[in-house]
Amino acid sequence: MTSSPRRACFAFAAAVAFLVACGTTEPGTPIAVPPAPSPAGTTTPHLPPSQVPPSPPPASSAPPATSPATPPVAGKVVVIDPGHNGGNSANPAEINKKVPAGRGQTKACNTTGTATNAGYTEHAFTWDVSVRVRELLAAKGIKVVMTRDDDTGVGPCVDKRAAIGNQSGAAAVVSIHADGSTSPGAHGFHIAYSAPPLNAAQGEPAKNLATALRDGLRTAGFATSTYIGTNGLSPRADLGGLNLSERPAALVECGNMRNADEAAVLSSPQGRQRYADAIAASIVEYLG
Ligand code: ZN
Repeated sequence: MTSSPRRACFAFAAAVAFLVACGTTEPGTPIAVPPAPSPAGTTTPHLPPSQVPPSPPPASSAPPATSPATPPVAGKVVVIDPGHNGGNSANPAEINKKVPAGRGQTKACNTTGTATNAGYTEHAFTWDVSVRVRELLAAKGIKVVMTRDDDTGVGPCVDKRAAIGNQSGAAAVVSIHADGSTSPGAHGFHIAYSAPPLNAAQGEPAKNLATALRDGLRTAGFATSTYIGTNGLSPRADLGGLNLSERPAALVECGNMRNADEAAVLSSPQGRQRYADAIAASIVEYLG
């Protein structure tokens, strides 16, 4: 934005409504009503209340007082958890060590993840989609915390990933994965959430988050899983990251990397943007 049109507007307009007429506000920014002009020497302070002139009525174009000053999701914290990591396969001792996984279980720290038949890895997919989701959420003013910083490291372990979500005070924690079923014809996405719940966040909040993600992906044209869960939702008791979460958490299995048709979508930047768009919109819907 340049300043000269704004100055022109100021020179032209004397009324409060000039802000609307000249269109100088940013999109989505509520129109601010400027204070009454008070150039030096023209104010009339110290009048008794009975002599204070009434304030001019607000311009009819001003928004109602109930208009939100910022989008309702701005400032909220969301943890995005890209599944696996690029260094996991080269560090088996580290990722195979047992860590607490909730419900009295222990599980491997992390796993390598799957890949398409052509060799496009799940960790690369989850990282790419997560970065796209982060960008979309940040544009809404949401504070995004990632459980890993790049796609070349090892881990972190599932218990550490859950702890990152818990310590951030996240309004939502979303893990992003893709599946690797070799069952003939198996395809479609599903959303996992912890069940039976181990704390209040794993109850209705987590199920609502999972449902929002399911609805968002379905609205975006993605098919629900033919082989896991029901109508795209999969309650699970065996996933450490979900078991250990004290924030509303859900895990998106975006599709089956071993299915040729889905592998083509999962492997393409355009396909990954579609997933990211749907996931980000679902999170915003849930938060809003
Ligand atoms: Zn995975």
